Amino acid sequence: MNENTIEKEKIAIVLNEQGVSPEQAIEMIAKELQGDGLIYYDLGSYTTVEMLPEADYVMQKCLGKNLINHHEYHKTTKIHQKLVHMIGNLLNSPKLDEPFGSSTTGSSEAIFLSILAAKWQWKKKGLQGNPNIVFCNNAHISWYKFSKFLEIDIREVPLEETHDFPLDNVLEQVNQNTIMVVAVLGCTQLGSCDPISLLNEALETINLENNWDVGIHVDAAIGGFIIPFQEEERNWDFKLSLVRSINLSGHKYGLVYPGLGWLLFRNESFFPHELNVTSHYLSGSSDSFTVSFSRSASHVMAQYFNFLHYGINGYRKVIRKCMHLTEKLTDLLVESDLFEICSDGSLPMIVFSLKDTVSFDEYVFTGKLREKNWMLPCYPLSQNGKTVMRIVIRNEMTIPMIRLLASDLIHAYNELTTPSDDDQ
Ligand SMILES: *Cc1c(COP(=O)(O)O)cnc(C)c1O
Repeated sequence: MNENTIEKEKIAIVLNEQGVSPEQAIEMIAKELQGDGLIYYDLGSYTTVEMLPEADYVMQKCLGKNLINHHEYHKTTKIHQKLVHMIGNLLNSPKLDEPFGSSTTGSSEAIFLSILAAKWQWKKKGLQGNPNIVFCNNAHISWYKFSKFLEIDIREVPLEETHDFPLDNVLEQVNQNTIMVVAVLGCTQLGSCDPISLLNEALETINLENNWDVGIHVDAAIGGFIIPFQEEERNWDFKLSLVRSINLSGHKYGLVYPGLGWLLFRNESFFPHELNVTSHYLSGSSDSFTVSFSRSASHVMAQYFNFLHYGINGYRKVIRKCMHLTEKLTDLLVESDLFEICSDGSLPMIVFSLKDTVSFDEYVFTGKLREKNWMLPCYPLSQNGKTVMRIVIRNEMTIPMIRLLASDLIHAYNELTTPSDDDQ
């Protein structure tokens, strides 16, 4: 069946006149979902597939609570506020500043809002010309999408062949109408982190020389909940003078199920208060600047559960374990001598390709692997168009699973290089 027939069938499907029992509904759903990929075999995904049963319990208790009803659920609102402060603290929000921000449905919504806020701040300056945004061509697709939605000129900087950040080319694109320069802490394709403190320093200089006021937004969707828990200190967050906003995905290494992101501003002054809309539909009033109005409190509470349960040490342990598994799997892949590793090993992910000498490509290879249930994404790198595959190491993964995966990777490779009986 091709996709068109599925589309046509969908149109003909209508809601049943009579319902079925809850048990029957469960059974029908389970049956219909058969054939879906298995979440534990989803190698490319950064999002959390499993939380503790206790976290599930907390979430279940809050499912029906609407996050927007600030007055009714003022304790929930208080916890949300507390989380913004905790994350602000984790991101070295300056002592005298009050961190300002909100949960979102993911980093995408946070990115949309960060561009919107920067555009409004720019508008207030009353400059001539169009607003523009500067980012490298490894930026997440949401940067392209929302810059377009918000009519911001995209000044895209192509990455060089090497892993080096093209600092000079980035600076060349900046002018007085640049609403922000975007830096990435863990790019989606390769897991590399931009040298944000170098960028900060260089921008400080050109701001001073030209009397501009261009700031940095850090897309820390992946790295935001990793880097603060690693031993090596990196200068990337609000410690840097020009970092004005940061997005993080609570549902990636914040270890919450899909549906949670965070947007933090250095302080309230970087957020145009005109965008903070107060509603009066509910008892009392609710301030909010997010896109969605109603949203379950579950995900926010799950984040709180994780913060309470893990604490800094617990998150450190999780990241350390993920890094250990990454090294282990990298070793097994290198030992096999069949693959080329492209990622730099600084984040819990492995980006790799087949060695050039084989007769099949990565698309055929990942197709073969799918026979063993593994879902391994395959895509061209922005740097050089080279096709790569990605394995994200997540919290629920274990050493036996890594071993099984390595053995299946090698097996799939060998099956493709050895002619099968049918071919002989
Ligand atoms: C995942 C990701 C996003 C999008 O975030 P969601 O949390 O999926 O909405 C944005 N930027 C980067 C670097 C990402 O990896």
